[in-house]
This record gives sequence, C-alpha cells and structure tokens, in this order.
Amino acid sequence: MKGLLVLTALFVAVFGKVTFEGDQVLRINAKNAEQISLLKELTEADLLGLDFWMNPARESLPVDLHVPFHSLQAVRAFLAYNQIPYHIMIENVQDLVDKEQLQMLKYHGFPRSTDDFVYTTYHDLDSINLFMDMLVAENQNMVSKIEIGQSYENRPLNVLKFSTGANRPGIWIDTGLHSREWITHASGIWFAKKIVTDYGRDPVLTDILNSYDIFLEIVANPDGLAYTHSDDRMWRKTRKPNPGSSCVGVDPNRNWETGFGGPGSSSNPCSQTYHGPSIHSEPEVKAIVEFVKSHGNLKAFLSIHSYSQMLLYPYGYTQTAAKDQAELHELARKATSELQSLYNTAYTYGSIITTIYQADGVTTDWAYEQGIKYSYTFELRDTGRYGFILPADQILPTAEETWLALMVIMEHIKNNPY
Ligand SMILES: [Zn+2]
Repeated sequence: MKGLLVLTALFVAVFGKVTFEGDQVLRINAKNAEQISLLKELTEADLLGLDFWMNPARESLPVDLHVPFHSLQAVRAFLAYNQIPYHIMIENVQDLVDKEQLQMLKYHGFPRSTDDFVYTTYHDLDSINLFMDMLVAENQNMVSKIEIGQSYENRPLNVLKFSTGANRPGIWIDTGLHSREWITHASGIWFAKKIVTDYGRDPVLTDILNSYDIFLEIVANPDGLAYTHSDDRMWRKTRKPNPGSSCVGVDPNRNWETGFGGPGSSSNPCSQTYHGPSIHSEPEVKAIVEFVKSHGNLKAFLSIHSYSQMLLYPYGYTQTAAKDQAELHELARKATSELQSLYNTAYTYGSIITTIYQADGVTTDWAYEQGIKYSYTFELRDTGRYGFILPADQILPTAEETWLALMVIMEHIKNNPY
C-alpha cells in the first residue's frame, strides 16, 4: 500500500513533465581535430534535440551528449559512420530522474528550524526560501536577506548576507546560475548553515567573518530552478522568451560584458550557450552586476557550477594570461589539494580557456575585470557518471569537500589583503 501511494505521488509529480524515457547520455572520445569539428556541427542540429552536457572542445576532453530516445539511431549512425568512439554513460536518463524524485519524496518534510532541515536531499524553490527565512530568523545578528532584484518572472533574487560588523569588504558566492546543476544549490544551502554553525567555533572562519562579509546567492536563477522542478529537469538557461524564436532562455553564464558575443558562445536562441540579445540582458545577471558595482568593495567572486571537478580562473575569452595568473594558479592548487584530502575527489585547475575551452561573456571574466582579483568558477562533482543528476547521497560529501576549498581561498584573501 505504501509503495502504491509513493507510486501515485510520483505519477502526479511527473505528470506533464518532460520525460527522458529511453534517452541516453553518450560519452564520446574524439580522436582528432576533424572529429571535434564534426561534433561541433552536431551542436547546431536543432531538430535532433541534442543536449551537450560537455561541449566538444579538444581531443583530450570527453564530450558528453544527452540524446533523446527518438534521435538515438541517427546519432549512433553518425558516430559509427565517422568512426568516432563512444560508449553509453547513462543507459536511461529517466531512471536517474525517477530515483531522484523518489528520494525527494521520501525526505520531503516540514522543518521547523534549520536544524530540522534535511541537507541530504534536493529542494525546490519554496523549500530553499523557507530555509533562508528560518536561517535569518535564527541568526538575526549575523544573517540578513537582501533582495538584489527580480527575475524575468518576477521572483525575488535573494542574497544572504553574513556580517558581524559594518563597512567590511565582501566575498561573493553564487550557486545555481545554471538551474539544472542541483548539487550547487544543495551545497549552497549547506554552506549557509556551516557558516552560522562555525562562527565562534572555528577560529579560521571566525577570523574571516570578523573582517569580511560573505554574500551568498543560493538561487541565482530562480525561474530556471522552478522550471526544473515543474517541467524540465534538464533546464539550464533563464526563462525569458526570445522574440522570433520558439526557443526560450539565455545562458546566464554567457551574458556578461567581458568577451560578450565571442565564438565561445552561441548566437542561436535554441543553443544552451545562447549569449542573449545584448550585454546583461538577463535581469538575473543585471542584478548581480548592479550589486557588485554598488557594493564596490568585493574581494572575491566565487561562482559555483557543476559538473566536471574543476577549479577555474580567468580568462575564458582570451588566451592572454590574467595578470594575477601565478597567484591564482597556486591558490587553485592549494584549494583543490585540500578538497581532495577529504574524499580523494580529484580536481583539475587552470584558466578557463586552457582547461576547458574558450567561453565568452562568462561571470568570472567580468568579475575579474571589475578588479576582483580572486575570481573563480568551481565545477563540482562528478566527472560525468551521473552528470547533472548526481545522486543525493553525494550532496553532503560534495558540500563538505568544496567547503574546504572555499576556506583555503577565503583564508588566503584574509592573509593577503589588497
Ligand atoms: Zn553551469
């Protein structure tokens, strides 16, 4: 009976949603530059409904491709014809989505405090908002909620401010700019609780918070997050319609001024990396831009994404090395080595363009160009086994290990004021 109830609830929960039944994620290992360019051509084949979880970039990097069931035959034939090696990474995408839904249903509750809150499951927007309000209410002398703007669908863009004194320089952390990267929101929630728990107990964090404010935007793309829960688990972009196109949304990590519109982004509104009609066209991006400018004294800008286990610093739009490259590189080495010390999760690190590919109009480049020296992008777990549908039992270890890296960076900033 209990099983039947769960099944019924599941049916109701998924009814009307995009289904991924029979969809597969293929891991493709191109052998040469020619195969990479063939795969790049595939990215423009809108009719196949393909979704590159990892874009084709260079031979050394695998390409992860989510193929809808109806396109599997065509894609396999294409790969075979061109002798491009691949294997199946995810046999049936819907199976993972179903497991994730069941796990959420099992832990769905009505927490009365943040001690009660379940950190080991994924949460929808209402639940995350409730968490933030409880955290503020419980820690009124340290935590406040700032609304830095509204999303396209008029949702508040909330930022948690952790502060123990006036007129301090700030450290910015955002999670969830790409809405399907659920592990990032889940980690952001855990970071928020960790900060209030450790203040006054952990001497390093206490020191940091005694000289810096921390700003944490857990849901940087609320419209997208709501949509991943209601309609399409794989939604990445914003939800603003594109005039003249049936495709919705802009990639909020290609919409920034620095390098805007370059080849490391797409001008096709149907693309997952569509840069948008103009610089900062997305209200979710514009709100951060205005906040950063009006604050005027941010010392770090840490943008949390998933997946691929990387710690990246500027630039994405140019091969020219950032002027602080040596320091950023060494700090990334330290941070990732501390991260690995907990569960042996291996990260690669380096500039965006040398470590993954050219990416234009990205957050981190913009933040760096604003004079915020410590600008990094994290790509959290995993390396593709589950991709964006990371099982909930990895939330806690992911958040814990990432926190170690964040602490290394924040401590370095405290010890090296500029
Ligand atoms: Zn992302």
